[in-house]
Amino acid sequence: MRLTMAIVFAIMIVALIICAIMASRSKKAIGLVVAFAVTCIIFPIVGNLIITVSTSEKLSTIGYYIYFIGMDMIMYSMFYFALRYCRVKKSYKFLRILVVTLSLIDVVQLLLNPLLHHAFATERIVVYGADYYRLIPYFGQTFHRVVCYGILAMIFVIFLIRRATTPRIYAERYSSILICMLIAAIAETYFIFSKTPIDISMIAFGIFGLTLYYFAIHYRSLRLLDRMLSDLVSEMTQSIMFFDSHGGCIWANDAAVAQMGIDRRNFELADAKIEEMFPNLPTINDWTQEYTKGEGEDFRYYILKKQAVRDARGRVTGSFLGIEDKTSEYQELAQQRYLARHDSLTGLYNRDYLYKRILERIDEHPQEGYYIGFLNVKNFKMVNDVFGNAFGDYTLKCIADKLREFVPEGGIYGRITGDLFGFLVPISHFNQERLVKNMTAFVVEEGDVSYSPFVQIGIYEIARGDRDVAVMFDRAHMALTSIKDDYTERVAYYDDHMRSQVLWEQMLSAQVEKAIEEKQIRPYYQPIVDAKGKVVGAEALARWRHPEKGFLNPSDFIPVFEKNGMIADVDRSIWRSACEKLASWKKEGRDMFLSVNISPKDFYFMDVAEELVELTKEYEIDPKNLRVEITETVMMSDIKNRLGILRRLKKAGFIVEMDDFGSGFSSLNLLKDMPVDVLKIDMVFLRESAERDRARTIVHNIIKLSHDLRMTSLTEGVETEEQFKALADMGCHLFQGFYFAKPMTDEEFEEFCRKEK
Ligand code: C2E
Ligand code: MG
Ligand code: MG
Repeated sequence: MRLTMAIVFAIMIVALIICAIMASRSKKAIGLVVAFAVTCIIFPIVGNLIITVSTSEKLSTIGYYIYFIGMDMIMYSMFYFALRYCRVKKSYKFLRILVVTLSLIDVVQLLLNPLLHHAFATERIVVYGADYYRLIPYFGQTFHRVVCYGILAMIFVIFLIRRATTPRIYAERYSSILICMLIAAIAETYFIFSKTPIDISMIAFGIFGLTLYYFAIHYRSLRLLDRMLSDLVSEMTQSIMFFDSHGGCIWANDAAVAQMGIDRRNFELADAKIEEMFPNLPTINDWTQEYTKGEGEDFRYYILKKQAVRDARGRVTGSFLGIEDKTSEYQELAQQRYLARHDSLTGLYNRDYLYKRILERIDEHPQEGYYIGFLNVKNFKMVNDVFGNAFGDYTLKCIADKLREFVPEGGIYGRITGDLFGFLVPISHFNQERLVKNMTAFVVEEGDVSYSPFVQIGIYEIARGDRDVAVMFDRAHMALTSIKDDYTERVAYYDDHMRSQVLWEQMLSAQVEKAIEEKQIRPYYQPIVDAKGKVVGAEALARWRHPEKGFLNPSDFIPVFEKNGMIADVDRSIWRSACEKLASWKKEGRDMFLSVNISPKDFYFMDVAEELVELTKEYEIDPKNLRVEITETVMMSDIKNRLGILRRLKKAGFIVEMDDFGSGFSSLNLLKDMPVDVLKIDMVFLRESAERDRARTIVHNIIKLSHDLRMTSLTEGVETEEQFKALADMGCHLFQGFYFAKPMTDEEFEEFCRKEK
């Protein structure tokens, strides 16, 4: 029997050692505290093991010391564990000092027993046929018991308070330890009073150690988990229903009960409700599906998710269905998406989305032929200025409505910016008659205002392989530009001519820099003569001797560069050449002038006056010999600023000539403000026509007018002797034209001058 007990103790010890090691390795904060408490429990068991197996008095006595001191250690460690495990927030310093002090006093008084013999002695008895040394307790032993029970009582109090103040669901973690502790204490008490030789309460202590380890380190209340999860699911806003393995509903949370009108007492009826609300759901498990219901106000958007619940072996034991009402999120997203893709004024697609949709359509049906249309309201700025912005907005909305009405099926349309709209129409559905007529001729009426917008449309037929929508619209726009100034045309198609024009322009623009550098572009000179036929100067006219394309006239390239701004570079180089020439004449002592042309576009890219002044300074020439030719279009915009520039030029000593006078619209009107010195009368008046006499009368009067205004008159385009004579008779001062000479190279011009002499 003693041996059996010893073996049980030994097994207990080994088990506790393992628990202590595992607890110390645990990642939990309380791990080390548990390891300490479990280790302390080992000592009294070791003590009792020694007492049980020992037949010598000495060894038994040592066993008793280990036992008693071990009990002190248990009490201290358990006290410490209780504070931590029960999460006692206050430090209770006083109590802790008391417990430590009591334990230490007890240990000391026990250790003094060999000297004072006040705590205990042993007496030999025979147990199961062998010597056994039984304890005879004295006063010190009583003190030891008082200390141990005292601390134990404190531990109980800590646990009881904690258990009472904790929600019931958590109470389990405290109750279980409390009960084990109580059993151990009762067993110990029984041992003390029963006077049985072997302390079987040690088994209770050992079990208590193991319980402690389990509850503190491993235990997770399943009930707790269960409750928490079901609470969580119940309170979720999402509807959740659970089904058994046969698919019958066994439970639904509050949201599901409310949403589906399920009877809590009879979940079985829920299946029918689900079918009623969401017909034709998949019968299999594990899917997620969007579900929309109703329209307008009643519109709802759900996300349904069904998932199987499987056991450890992968068999389906049930399933659950989650139903989430995502209507507001869906609507918010739809709203955001709408705003990102639509123009807020007209509700049409905005440019980016229009381009995207067009590209998608082309990609979807690449075999189909399409037209891209570019729609512009002529003089729309005027609508805003005259009728106000609100009416302007209203006009744009009307155009949007027209697009909605008349762009045929399969078409896509949107607002590009301002008064520019765009559309794509499959050629097979395109009816020019209907679309163009309806889109371009209508009346916008609001209140008393009635306005008929002048809408023009440029159309580009998409070529196979076209992918850049912006380029397609550029081309449609180009077609539009071709009729822009024409008030009779409403629609224009991009054609092969425009296509080659684009290529041509691209090629020229790419080469201009090199052409200037290599003097492929340079001035030709056309003599200007006086009434006696004497050369007094020349006009510098640009020519491009293109290495591949041959000889190019200004009309071939000047408009191209006026469009993209490169004209400024061309003009600068022509002016420079002219200055160079003037400088060389100055050296030779020849007093002749050169006229250079100024493009209206030059004013956008440079300070024309400053540029010319600098040039004359650089070449040290007299500004009066560098004549400046401008046309009335220079005055079409920014008049104040342009007038300022002309005045500066005059002030600097340049002679300003008004080129092509009479060919434009407002020549006469401008004449009164423009500070010009020379009127270059346009050659239109010299052309052969039925009304020759009337033309003559006009020219005659222009010449007279220029003299009255103290201007020099110069007629260009003089081709015959007769014209020359007649003009000279009218009093014209200067003449330029093929009758005298065509524009020619520098060398030819020099030769021409020599011969003239
Ligand atoms: P423009 O300044 O009015 O130049 C006169 C144009 O009339 C020249 O054409 C000239 O060759 C042409 N012409 C001269 N006499 C006669 C004639 O008797 N009969 C006919 N039918 N034509 C005659 P070109 O050289 O082709 O220049 C055309 C226009 O290009 C010029 O008109 C001018 O506006 C512009 N241009 C020429 N060179 C330059 C330049 O360097 N810079 C700028 N910005 N424009 C230039
Ligand atoms: Mg000119
Ligand atoms: Mg001219």
